[in-house]
Amino acid sequence: MKDCLFCKIVQKEIPTEVLLENDFFIAFNDINPKAPIHVLVIPKKHFQDISDIDGDVIAKFPEFVKTLSDKLGVTDNGYRIITNKGKDAGQIIFHLHFHLLAGKNLGDLI
Ligand code: AMP
Repeated sequence: MKDCLFCKIVQKEIPTEVLLENDFFIAFNDINPKAPIHVLVIPKKHFQDISDIDGDVIAKFPEFVKTLSDKLGVTDNGYRIITNKGKDAGQIIFHLHFHLLAGKNLGDLI
């Protein structure tokens, strides 16, 4: 989608170090990490948020995350996945993304 920052990352118009990529998703480091490991996973197709995604794409998500967590070396110790939808959640980028947080004890907020 025109003027979408994350679409520009998908299109490689904004250079970003890609950690993992397949036909459906791309993963890269968050620019403002909130944990020792803070990776964003985004669908290549533009969806505004979690309420907008189609089932065929989300069905591919678990396998991608499993491969990613293995690659990051966090599968055993664990990780947290968060997605923000809308202003009360603090969503600032309106291209669906999942935050994968890991690398320390993440506490008991959720
Ligand atoms: P939110 O929409 O609140 O779920 O979070 C958007 C996230 O995108 C924030 O954690 C930002 O630090 C991150 N972010 C914004 N621009 C970039 C960028 N160019 N590369 C990587 N992460 C980004």
